[in-house]
Amino acid sequence: MPDSPEAGDGTLNVCALYPDLMNIYADRGNLLVLERRCAWRGIGFEVSASSLGEPLDADAHDLYYLGGGQDRDQRLCAEDLLATKRDALHAAAARGALVLGVCGGYQLLGHSYSLDGEQIEGVGLLDVHTVREPGPRLIGNVAIEISLEGAGEGLGDGVLAGFENHGGRTYLGDGQPPLGRVLSGYGNDGSSGLEGAVRRGVIGTYLHGPLLPKNVWFADWLIARALGLPADALRALEDDLERQAHASALQAAGL
Ligand code: GLN
Repeated sequence: MPDSPEAGDGTLNVCALYPDLMNIYADRGNLLVLERRCAWRGIGFEVSASSLGEPLDADAHDLYYLGGGQDRDQRLCAEDLLATKRDALHAAAARGALVLGVCGGYQLLGHSYSLDGEQIEGVGLLDVHTVREPGPRLIGNVAIEISLEGAGEGLGDGVLAGFENHGGRTYLGDGQPPLGRVLSGYGNDGSSGLEGAVRRGVIGTYLHGPLLPKNVWFADWLIARALGLPADALRALEDDLERQAHASALQAAGL
C-alpha cells in the first residue's frame, strides 16, 4: 500500500450544491479540474450532488461547492439552503471542511442579497452582504492578488485570474478579510479594491469563467487543504497548458 497521498492514500469527497441550478459560467469545469488533478496523482475523487429538497450530510464531504446563478435560481436555492442545508453547512465549516462559493454562490454564503426591494437571506457563513444597486453590472476580466498571511489562512500569496459578471455589490463586515486585492477589474463592489471573502475554510469569490482551470495552483491548494495535507505535499504535474491558461487569463485582465 503506497504511503504518500499522491500515490493513492486519500479520496477527495466533494458535494456540488444545486449543480442543476447554480452552474452558469461552467462551474462544472471547476469540479472537473479537481477530479482530473486528483486522478493524475492517484488520489480518489467522489462527487455527489445535493439540490432542491435534498438533505446535506455535514460529515461526508471535504469540500462543498456552490456555483453561480441567475437571480431567479438564486432565490430558489436560497430558500432551500435555509430550509434544508444551513445547519449542515455550518456544521461542516465548523469541523474544518472547505466551502467554496463562486459569484451567486458567494453571495449566498453571506448574510443577504438585496434586490428590487426584496431581501434574499443567505446562510451567513461569511460576514458579507450584497446589494443590487443602480448602475451597470460589473462585467469583465479580473485579477486579484491573494495575501492572507494576516488572516491566518495559510494560503500564502498568489494571483488568481478570471472573469466576473455580477449585478450585486458585496460589502465586507468589520473584521471580515477579503480573499484578495484587485489588481485589475471590479471585485466585490467596484470601488473598495477588495475581492471575495474568506473565513477559515469558507471562501467566496466573484471569479469564474471558470475559476480553477485558469488557476490550477489554487485548485491544488484546495485539494491539499481538503485532504488535510500541506500545500506542497501534492506531486507536481506537467502544467504547461495550465500555465498558458493562467497567463492568457492574466493577459486578458491587462496584466
Ligand atoms: N445573480 C447574481 C448577480 O447578478 C450573481 C450572478 C452570477 O452568479 N454570475 O449579482
